Amino acid sequence: MSDYKFEGWLGNDKESAEGNMVWGEFEPKKWEDDDVDIQITHSGICGSDLHTLRSGWGPTPYPCVVGHEIVGVAVRVGDKAEGNIKVGDLVGVGAQADSCMNRKPEQQECNACKTNHESYCINGMVNTYGGFHKNGDKSYGGYATHHRAKSHFVVPVPKGLKPEYAAPLLCGGITVYSPLRAWGCGPGKKVGIVGVGGLGHFAVLFAKALGADEVVGISRREAKRDEAIKLGCTDYIATADEKGWAKKNANRFDLIISTVSSADMPMQQYLSTLAFDGTLVQVGAPEEPIPISPFPLILGRRRLAGSAIGSPKEIAEMFQLCVDKDIHPWVELRPMEDANKAIVDLEKGLPRFRYVLTNKENGEPLRKVNSPSQHRL
Ligand code: NAP
Ligand code: ZN
Repeated sequence: MSDYKFEGWLGNDKESAEGNMVWGEFEPKKWEDDDVDIQITHSGICGSDLHTLRSGWGPTPYPCVVGHEIVGVAVRVGDKAEGNIKVGDLVGVGAQADSCMNRKPEQQECNACKTNHESYCINGMVNTYGGFHKNGDKSYGGYATHHRAKSHFVVPVPKGLKPEYAAPLLCGGITVYSPLRAWGCGPGKKVGIVGVGGLGHFAVLFAKALGADEVVGISRREAKRDEAIKLGCTDYIATADEKGWAKKNANRFDLIISTVSSADMPMQQYLSTLAFDGTLVQVGAPEEPIPISPFPLILGRRRLAGSAIGSPKEIAEMFQLCVDKDIHPWVELRPMEDANKAIVDLEKGLPRFRYVLTNKENGEPLRKVNSPSQHRL
């Protein structure tokens, strides 16, 4: 039994996305012996939180507590928990709560889970929030005091990685790290990052860390140029402000990661900036379809691909890379109480580049584990 309540910011309808979430208690999933309870210290704010709060991808099962970049201290660990997690450990949970793990003989065999690609589970992945666990209970996310998670999807935060960095890495970071690795980002590669927001800024940091020759920020406006260069971009393209940008950059990139969250984007032109045999990986998830003509694909033998978050194994690998290469995400800390204001600010495109909510009351035990740091790192 636990002596804590699960409380968080409840989205009760579509209007909650406009800064109208309401603080209240919620019932976590029923406890199972491979679960872990986490006292949340940090919770990143992802673009997906807005899509979900406004039912942009389809009806959200309200009430919904969003947040799938969760870091905190393990306060209860089930007897059958995986991964040697102990009470008091600093741990994280990303956007996935469960998958079939290829364990149910009555289900179709799942090559994805069998090969540690759980986010592509063919029997249905369970989202950290706005979804339903295998036992039928609703899943609730991290804009909250506590989170209950399946231990398989709980990743230890290594010593040397600040919790405010670990949190947004759990979704924003892994969603771009995974395709950069899968499509061979490294020396000799010219990489374009479309949309220099939360995910996009991580993509710039990782493409640099992996040794790409060129890492070019492709954003709409000139306004972010200086910050993008400071972040590590070797060049910058402002698509809404630079006439003829697509022609000027035609056939330039081996790999493009597009994090654009709206269907209102010049996909044809993005594709035309790919070199022969190049690949554009779309990770941004607009609410409307993106119209494309096949010609830029046909003429350059180019590819259009997609990618969904990443596995717990890849998250652990990415965490270690951040420690080894001393990668500093740009995060801005916001108190949990200000979550409504923070989501409105995200919609306006204000973060540079990721907001992370912090729970003051839950911060104390953490100080012994890892020292929190300042804004704008
Ligand atoms: P974000 O911080 O708001 O960044 C999104 C970026 O998209 C903005 O910074 C902006 O870049 C660009 N953008 C927005 N509207 C645009 C438009 N009309 N035309 C062109 N560019 C536009 O959000 P985020 O947290 O990075 O999330 C980005 C997207 O990824 C969301 O759709 C989210 O749901 C999705 N996502 C997908 C996965 C996955 O597994 N595939 C995981 C996490 C998130 P500029 O201002 O630089 O132009
Ligand atoms: Zn996310």
